[in-house]
Amino acid sequence: MKILVFDVGGTAIKYGMVDENFDVLFSEEMPTNAFYGGNGVMKSLEMKMDEYAGQFDAIGISTAGQVDFEKGIVTDGTGNIPNYKGSDLKGTFEKKYGVPVAVDNDVNCAGLGEAHFGAGVGEDNFLCLTYGTGVGGCIFWNGDVFRGTNCAAGEFGHMVTHAGGRDCTCGRKGCYEAYASCRAFTNIVSERFDRYMSGREIFKEENLKNPVIIEELDNWENEIVNGLVSLCNIFNPSLIILGGGIMSEDLLVGHIKEKLYSRLDDNYKCVRIEKAKLRNKAGMLGAAYLANKLLKGE
Ligand SMILES: [Zn+2]
Repeated sequence: MKILVFDVGGTAIKYGMVDENFDVLFSEEMPTNAFYGGNGVMKSLEMKMDEYAGQFDAIGISTAGQVDFEKGIVTDGTGNIPNYKGSDLKGTFEKKYGVPVAVDNDVNCAGLGEAHFGAGVGEDNFLCLTYGTGVGGCIFWNGDVFRGTNCAAGEFGHMVTHAGGRDCTCGRKGCYEAYASCRAFTNIVSERFDRYMSGREIFKEENLKNPVIIEELDNWENEIVNGLVSLCNIFNPSLIILGGGIMSEDLLVGHIKEKLYSRLDDNYKCVRIEKAKLRNKAGMLGAAYLANKLLKGE
């Protein structure tokens, strides 16, 4: 049994092959070429599917944007890829290749990956957040992804944490991700130093002694924790998984834990904070898990 898997992001499309043990046999990356829009993405996926035609039993696609999970259609939330909304990934590729195709939102796929193969193994109730250009969320509850009425649940990035505050990419103001995303942090640090600084650069040992960085890091951690406190109060989860490249920084995760626990009431302190384990393979493995379910007729 082999599953061809994709993870469609705003800048790159990761793809690879996964076997019946959910081992990733290989994985590669190609540019999304988002300027070609939704059609360009469909073409890129099709090109790879053609290349491996006859070698896979199912296809799993993890993608940016909101997805109608049953129909496998992109329904919204893909400002990074113009005209992607409405793309019928499942219908188009099932028809062409005659195999089951599973499609879900990238953070849901990452959550599923972590649930079955990573930091969430053995946990029935957890939240997964990814901090990058925005903040993505997955609600894994009672052993499955909680998707909401229109498969749009878990958009933690657009909780309003600062009413009337900074502009958000969604068109509203004061959203969590306008303050707590990695991009919000690098933007503000870059502004203060009057040159672009990446997250990786900011976390270099010599920079962490700089008072401006110490100040902005402290602010950013507080912003991250603001959202996490609310989520703990709403869900009372036993686990929160923090993903996104920046969360590989132990210093950051350590500070987040410290600040979070100091602000939670006793009934919420049961929550464990873990770093995502699967890194950039989480989305592909989650998509493979969903495709395998289709293969088994579940
Ligand atoms: Zn927003």
